[in-house]
Amino acid sequence: MTVILGGGISGLSAAYYAVNDARLSSIILLEASSRLGGWIRSRNSPSGAIFEQGPRTVRTLGLPGKNTLNLLEDLQLNDKLIHADLNHSVAKNRLIYKDEALHVLPNTLKGIFKTVSLLDRPLINRIWTDLRAPKVSKEDESIHSFVQRRLGQDIADNFISPIICGICAGDAREISVNFLLKSLFEAEQKHGSIVKGLVVKQLEKFFSKSKDKDNTAKDNVDKKLAATSSTLAKRAQNEHWIMWGLQGGLEQLPLALADYVKSRGVMVQTEKKCEKLTFKSDRVELSVNGDLQECSRVISSLCAKDLAELLQEQHPRLSAELKAIPTVTVGVVNLEFQGDVLPLQAFGFLIPPKENLPLLGVIFDSCVFPGSSTVLTVMMGGAWFEKYFGSNPSKEQLLTTAINHTKNILQIEEEPIAYNVAVLKDCIPQHVVGHNARVKRIHDYISAHHIPLALCGSSYQGVGINDVILSAKQAVRDVVK
Ligand SMILES: Cc1cc2nc3c(=O)[nH]c(=O)nc-3n(C[C@H](O)[C@H](O)[C@H](O)COP(=O)(O)OP(=O)(O)OC[C@H]3O[C@@H](n4cnc5c(N)ncnc54)[C@H](O)[C@@H]3O)c2cc1C
Repeated sequence: MTVILGGGISGLSAAYYAVNDARLSSIILLEASSRLGGWIRSRNSPSGAIFEQGPRTVRTLGLPGKNTLNLLEDLQLNDKLIHADLNHSVAKNRLIYKDEALHVLPNTLKGIFKTVSLLDRPLINRIWTDLRAPKVSKEDESIHSFVQRRLGQDIADNFISPIICGICAGDAREISVNFLLKSLFEAEQKHGSIVKGLVVKQLEKFFSKSKDKDNTAKDNVDKKLAATSSTLAKRAQNEHWIMWGLQGGLEQLPLALADYVKSRGVMVQTEKKCEKLTFKSDRVELSVNGDLQECSRVISSLCAKDLAELLQEQHPRLSAELKAIPTVTVGVVNLEFQGDVLPLQAFGFLIPPKENLPLLGVIFDSCVFPGSSTVLTVMMGGAWFEKYFGSNPSKEQLLTTAINHTKNILQIEEEPIAYNVAVLKDCIPQHVVGHNARVKRIHDYISAHHIPLALCGSSYQGVGINDVILSAKQAVRDVVK
C-alpha cells in the first residue's frame, strides 16, 4: 500500500501519476484539513467574480509547462481554459512601482537600447558591464548579489528584487541565484561571464556539438518526465500562449484531479492528519489522528517543515535539514471595483523592497480573466510580513493597508464593492542560498538509510504549479525504484 500525505495540488498529482503506474496498487491519500486543494482556493464574490486566494495563472513555458498541459488534457479541462498569448496586454505590460510612479518593464527590442526610467543606463550596455566584471568562483550566492556583480545595482534592486517578490514573496538578498538564474550563474562559473557563456552555448548548439551533454541532470530528468506533447501542449506552443487559468477559478484543477483519482480507486480521506512516521524494516507505521496505520511506502507532498515534525523522533538529522528550509507568510486581499477603474491593461505591478512598502505587488486579475468589474489581488508581507504587520495582524488592518495603497498607486477614487482577506501562514518555501546542496543532502540521507519515502511539493525543486506537478511525477518514479 502507498500512502500519499497532503491533498494539495502536489499530493493529488502524485495520486494521479501513482494510479497510472501499474507497479503501484492500493493508494491512500491523507489530507489533514477538511478540503482538498491546499493553497489553491477560488472563492466567488457576491457578483460572481472569482477571488483567487492563492495561485491564479500558470505559465506554459518549458517542459514543466508542457507537462501540466498534458495533465489538463487528460483531465478534460480544455473547455475551461482561458489563455493569454504573447500579444496580450498581460504579456506586454508588466509594471514596477518606484518613486511614486508606475514604470512599464521594457518589452521590445527597442526598449533594450533606451534608458528606461528604472535604470541608470540602457539594458544593452550591460553586455559590457558583464564582460568587464571579474569572474568570482562560488558554489552559490544570493540572486541579488549575482545580478549586482554582473549587471549592476539598479537591475538587482529595481528588476530582480521585485520579480523575486512576485515569484516567491522572498528577499532577493537571501534567495539562491539557482532559484531563477541557474543557467546564467553556470555561464559565469564555466566561461567567466554571462555573455561569453551564452555565446559559447549558442555556438555549441549551432555546430550541434553534443547538445545533450551540456544539459544538467535535472534537465534530463525533466525531459524524460514530460516527453510527449498533448494536442493542447502543441496548440499552446503554436499559438504562443504564455499563461493560462481556468473558468470558475484554478481550484477546478485539484477538484478535477480528485474526481479522476477517486474514480480510479484512490482512497482520498480528508480530516486525516498524519502526526508521526516510523520506518520499520518491512513496513511504515503512521500515526493518523492518534490511530496507528501501516503501509509499504510514503509519498510526502507536505511542506518540508511539516514533514520535519513527523520524522523528528526517528530521524532527527533529516528532520533538522527539512526544518531549515524557511517559509514566508503572505497577506492576500482580493478587491472588486465596479466597472473598469484601471489606468491601463496589464498583468499588474510589483514593488521593489527598497520602496519600504508593505505591499509586494498587485495582480490585475480582470485583465487576464475579463468580466464586468475590476478584480485585483493585493499580495503583502512575504519576507517582510512581521516587519510590517507583526505576528498577528487583524484582517481589518490588512484590508485597510491593501485598499489605501492600491487606491493611491492606481489613483482609484471609488471604494471596492467586495473584498476577501486571508493570511496564508508559511505558504511559500524559500529556496535560499545553499538550498540545492541541502536538498541533495536530504535525498542522500533518504537513499543511504533506504527509507521508502519520496518527496514532492514546493519545498524542493521549484515553487510554481508546474514545478510541483512535475515533482509529484518524479516522486512516484522515485518511490517505485
Ligand atoms: C499566494 C500564493 C500565490 C501563488 N501564485 C501562484 C501562481 O500564480 N502560479 C503558480 O504557478 N504558482 C503560484 N503559487 C504557488 C503554488 O500555489 C504552490 O506551489 C502550490 O499550490 C503548492 O501545492 P502543494 O500541494 O505542494 O502544497 P499545499 O498546497 O501546501 O498542500 C499541502 C497539503 O498538505 C496538507 N497537510 C499538511 N500537513 C499535513 C499532515 N500532517 N497530514 C496530512 N496532510 C497535511 C495541507 O493541509 C495541504 O492541503 C502561489 C502560492 C501562493 C501561496
